[in-house]
Amino acid sequence: MQDYLMLSNGTGSSPAMERDELVITSSNTRATLSLLPSGLHTESNVCVLDFSDVVGVSRDGAKLSYFAYPRVVGIAASCCANGEEKRERVVTSFVCDSEATAKRWETSSWSLLQEEFVKTKGRHVRRFLVLLNPRSGKGLSEKIFQEHCAPMFRDAAVEYTLVKTEFSGHANKYCKETPDLAQKFDGIVIVSGDGLLFEVLQGVMTRPDWADVVKDVAFGIVPGGSGNGLAVTLAHASGEKRGPLSNTFLIAKGNVAPLDLCAVDHFGKGRLYSFLSLEFGFIADVDLGSDWMRSLGEVRFTLQVIRLLFSPSSTPCRLSYLPTPGNPKSPKTAPKTSNYWETDSPYTGPEGPRVSHLVPLSSPLPTSWESVTDRFFTMWPCNVAWMSSSSQVSPHSHWNDGYIQLLYYRKSKSRMARLNLLRFVLAIETGSHVKEDGSSTFGAFEMFPVRAFRIEPLKKTGTRLAVDGEEVEMGPLQMEVLPGIARLMGTSVD
Ligand code: ADP
Ligand code: MG
Repeated sequence: MQDYLMLSNGTGSSPAMERDELVITSSNTRATLSLLPSGLHTESNVCVLDFSDVVGVSRDGAKLSYFAYPRVVGIAASCCANGEEKRERVVTSFVCDSEATAKRWETSSWSLLQEEFVKTKGRHVRRFLVLLNPRSGKGLSEKIFQEHCAPMFRDAAVEYTLVKTEFSGHANKYCKETPDLAQKFDGIVIVSGDGLLFEVLQGVMTRPDWADVVKDVAFGIVPGGSGNGLAVTLAHASGEKRGPLSNTFLIAKGNVAPLDLCAVDHFGKGRLYSFLSLEFGFIADVDLGSDWMRSLGEVRFTLQVIRLLFSPSSTPCRLSYLPTPGNPKSPKTAPKTSNYWETDSPYTGPEGPRVSHLVPLSSPLPTSWESVTDRFFTMWPCNVAWMSSSSQVSPHSHWNDGYIQLLYYRKSKSRMARLNLLRFVLAIETGSHVKEDGSSTFGAFEMFPVRAFRIEPLKKTGTRLAVDGEEVEMGPLQMEVLPGIARLMGTSVD
């Protein structure tokens, strides 16, 4: 094990971890530089290398090379239009007086760049399983991987095992059947749409050692699909431009946050696990009904909306939910929930995580639950903010707030379905269907945070049902959030 120096705290005011005279190769100047958590600084505290853009460092004898991806704007960047912002690779090198000094700087730099990881694992080299779906979206996943992920992973000292999925269900099988997944990998990175991450989750969560995997192996996603809700959510939350480069950069940087999953009980399929959303009615018909246009990318959703708005239909259903104490309108004001692993003796047995609010789907719900029976045009309970790169459906959702935003539109609230659905579809692009307090802007739509809900369709035909964009047979289904049970790479904020 390398001898990593540990920081007492990670702030810029910490004492320098290293201070030596180095040669800055670009200018061939010699300067006394200090290694601080924020980067490399001169004696007069000029920052010569900002660590917020750096993903890794390598050493060749006494020479150190740092790999940074700073933002560049228009003109300067060969790769984007004028005025547009993009991250571009910059290598900055320094020569130390000896190999021993360079080794010290290298080790100290990694313990700053991958602080949490180095602390827990005692190494800086991360091992990822990369699952790439060559058929997702416009079929660009392989190109995305070669162009963005492979070079940046090399810079960030990520070793990876690349698996290209050969059939639907391949990723599920791989994650379910590969022995010692938690010992072999520190992360599982999906290069595809949300559908492949859903598949991976089903594989992981049905392993007898699921608890070891979700505690030790963090999930990451690089958008290569036609629906990339989680990737867009993460890029947006970190103030990054949307696209595979941003998500790869965030993964390479190494911050890991807790991720809520939802336990889903479906009458036919049994237990499933979801990270994104449930779609019922109109919105499921948009998503699933446009699948044949997958090669068009996200434009398929717009085209399908136009088709469906001609004759919106509603489905009779009973919707029940566990009211959040105080009936808050927004997860911002909902009481904090405790993380699955912080509860008293969290269950880790082979049957998968235990829920605390759901009862078997065939049993009546406790009286503390509330129910609405109506005809529903749509339901779209969400766990994250963005469902695709043009739909910010649930702006107040957060991947580890412990809540699902229960969004629905029922007939008795308004009969102007075509108009309301059109207004809704237009508004989700900017999230303007949701007020600052988290409630719905349009009277017809209702939206509030819950920990658990159940749907019981009173008619099984005429519309569709999907979990994380994957179709399941229409019928009774219930969901409960498992707060922070998994770990997520690719965030700059928790
Ligand atoms: P998209 O956003 O384009 O739908 P997804 O990642 O959601 O992309 O993947 C869509 C589906 O493709 C998933 O349900 C997955 O099971 C399936 N799949 C994965 N690999 C293959 C393959 N090689 N051929 C066909 N389907 C595949
Ligand atoms: Mg949530």
